[in-house]
Amino acid sequence: MRESILPPIFGEYQNQVKFVVQRTDDEYSSTCPSCGDMGHNWDNQRDFPDRCRWFLKGNPCGWCRICNNLFWPGKKEGARISRSQIQEWRVELERKQEQAIQKSLKSLKILNDQHPWVLWHQQMTAEQASYWSEEGIPRDWQNYWLLGYLAEKMVMHNGQSYRVPAYTIPNQALYSEGHRNGVLNIHYRLVGDIDIGRYRYEKGLRQNIFYTRPDWTPGERPVAIFEGAKKAMVVRARTNNDRLDIISIPSKTPPASLLEEISKTYRHGVYWCLDPDAYDNSREFASKCEHGRAVRLLYKADDWIVKHGITGGQLVDIIKKGELIT
Ligand SMILES: [Zn+2]
Repeated sequence: MRESILPPIFGEYQNQVKFVVQRTDDEYSSTCPSCGDMGHNWDNQRDFPDRCRWFLKGNPCGWCRICNNLFWPGKKEGARISRSQIQEWRVELERKQEQAIQKSLKSLKILNDQHPWVLWHQQMTAEQASYWSEEGIPRDWQNYWLLGYLAEKMVMHNGQSYRVPAYTIPNQALYSEGHRNGVLNIHYRLVGDIDIGRYRYEKGLRQNIFYTRPDWTPGERPVAIFEGAKKAMVVRARTNNDRLDIISIPSKTPPASLLEEISKTYRHGVYWCLDPDAYDNSREFASKCEHGRAVRLLYKADDWIVKHGITGGQLVDIIKKGELIT
């Protein structure tokens, strides 16, 4: 995806927005002139905000689905649009949004019907399994999370396609009535030496909370939140503390909707354990949670355990001492 500029008809908004991307022939996205929306988006084009959309078709307008503001040509100069026209636009835009959600649910259903991650798990060789072990995740936990390996994952980078090996992490959905309930997404941890980023997600699907214990009801226990599924898995696998839930978010700058979901769900101690370089983010996110705490880590959690030899129990003790923010 390449950065672009807004079509000339929306020129008056050009210097109020960033990260303009052309999505289709007649649709653009960018940050929002009103609320910002600097957060990362949910459709896998990770570096580009996508909540504010600019439509060229019909009556050209921009619409932010976070703050629900509309932007039309001439608005700043006082061009007036009738209330009923504005209402019509909103209804139409919400309908479009609903279509996009339905489309993503359909992709999710297809993915779950095919359940490719099961095969990738079963076909793992001893060598591939030992990769996971060396990364800090023992065999029994590899089986529990159905971790796998895919020899050729097709990925796009700067408009070019590559085929690279990837370790696969199914983002398990919460159990329902004691049974596994499929996945919400798949995380692909790319290996090899091409510099095209470390992770990819299933295209068209929302990035979600990664639950290390999808069989637990979220919110019943205090929770520690890490950056990336692998860290959360390593910590979970190395501590037998059943009174602490461990989850992860995709990056240190998660979408606002994910933060909101966390603050609504977890209310009995929320320990933000993002990487050492993201301590300020931990503090900021903790301030939005009930009983929010920010934990200062010396190393990335997985490195601390695997390379620097701290035990899971010691790490949990450090987490528990996290600074109370709220
Ligand atoms: Zn907005």
